[in-house]
Amino acid sequence: MTARVLRGHLFHVAGDARLETAVASLVSVRDGGLVVDDAGRIAWTGPYAELPPAYAALPVTRADFVLPGFVDTHLHYPQVHATAAYGGGRLLHWLDHCIFPTEARLADDAVAARAAADFVARRVAVGTTSALVFGSAFPGAQDALFAAHAEAGLRLVSGRGVQTTGPASAEPLLTSEDDALTLVADEIDRWHGRDADLSRAHDPSRALLQVAVVPRFALSVTRRTLRGLGELYGDARAHGVYFHTHLSENAGPDGGEVAAVRSSYGVESYLDTYDGRFEPGSRSGGETLLGRRSIFAHAVHCTDAELARLAETRSSIAHCPTSQQFLGSGTMPWRRTTAAGVTVAVGSDIGAGDRWLVPGVLNDAYKVHLSEPGAAAVALHPAELLYTGTLAGAQALDLDDLVGNLDVGKDADLVLIDVAASPPLARRLEDGAWPEDPAEADVALLFTLLMELREEAVTSVVVKGHEVESRPLRLVSGVLSIGRPG
Ligand SMILES: [Zn+2]
Repeated sequence: MTARVLRGHLFHVAGDARLETAVASLVSVRDGGLVVDDAGRIAWTGPYAELPPAYAALPVTRADFVLPGFVDTHLHYPQVHATAAYGGGRLLHWLDHCIFPTEARLADDAVAARAAADFVARRVAVGTTSALVFGSAFPGAQDALFAAHAEAGLRLVSGRGVQTTGPASAEPLLTSEDDALTLVADEIDRWHGRDADLSRAHDPSRALLQVAVVPRFALSVTRRTLRGLGELYGDARAHGVYFHTHLSENAGPDGGEVAAVRSSYGVESYLDTYDGRFEPGSRSGGETLLGRRSIFAHAVHCTDAELARLAETRSSIAHCPTSQQFLGSGTMPWRRTTAAGVTVAVGSDIGAGDRWLVPGVLNDAYKVHLSEPGAAAVALHPAELLYTGTLAGAQALDLDDLVGNLDVGKDADLVLIDVAASPPLARRLEDGAWPEDPAEADVALLFTLLMELREEAVTSVVVKGHEVESRPLRLVSGVLSIGRPG
């Protein structure tokens, strides 16, 4: 690897900031320099004019903006071709009618290979350098996903979607209880920390490729499966294996998913099912699946006690405002959830969400939380938005010592933005009116950049100092046969 200097406007939320300190921790350097060393780490940042002489001979790459790579903490690989699916309605109906049939297609290795390639291409296009990815039920499809990420050099945490019970449409995705546990254990053996050099004692929990234990949600598994996964995870968590699932996403007029979980398990709260308390009356039945590497998607309808339990166990929430709108789920109450002390990161939730670009999801977050009722409404500060899409994601993934901002010593995981590649954005930034005060102007600029960013302007994506290769989607001629007669 060759060391180099990146020159452009640096924006990041520095240090070990949390949401409460994100505004005070916002760093903006208009003509900034960032030195990437031979190990792929950030060796220096500051005003370009103050670049130390030791780096003066390095090649310089220019960009309009240099941001930390975006972190997407919840999206579905087998739904890469299931965005904007019509006729689903709310969550349970949508799963039954749109999603289970699509995900079943990945049993075909050729379909899975295309899905994996397209998934990586979409991630690269939008600068998502780290992602927690809900996997396919099929081990061959998961192999394709991990292999495609290894080739590209992107960070990936993923695990096969575990389902041991479900409606008829889910039948192709189900396995026996025993097979479910065997397949999860096999995936951990095969892929967790696969790129770490174990002969040199590199830590698998810091590798680019890592594995999660991923039951789809409480309704897709049985008590016996939850008990078995608890035992398995009790051992695996010491090696940095993650736990990931959905939590309290959709209530709906008839109580929806949340009511279905409580009544089918006979538990007091949805979270109890993942907390080892899945026996009737929330009695203990196994080990907890909560912890510092446990990330729960949605948490729209959590009780105060559930939020307190998530915070106490240092579990995190992947907030998915775009998808919550699509499925009519409501929205995670921002003030109440973050006040409980839970780390809240952001997820695109492809394919209920239809925006791959993390700042696009932040754009939706800004709008839905400003539209929350009464005193719950909040106008998120641009630094809080940037934090949520970068450092909070790294914290949720327990990787914030490695990535999440532009601090010296971290891995160089970066997004380079050239606004000329997106002329409407360039014109908006050039001809807009900006505050005279430089600090206020920087905040206003960051807000507009995040809200208006389009993937065309993401011109370079860097992980650990390596340029990630972009392979544009290539359509096979004649593939668009939908609706043609015969
Ligand atoms: Zn999801």
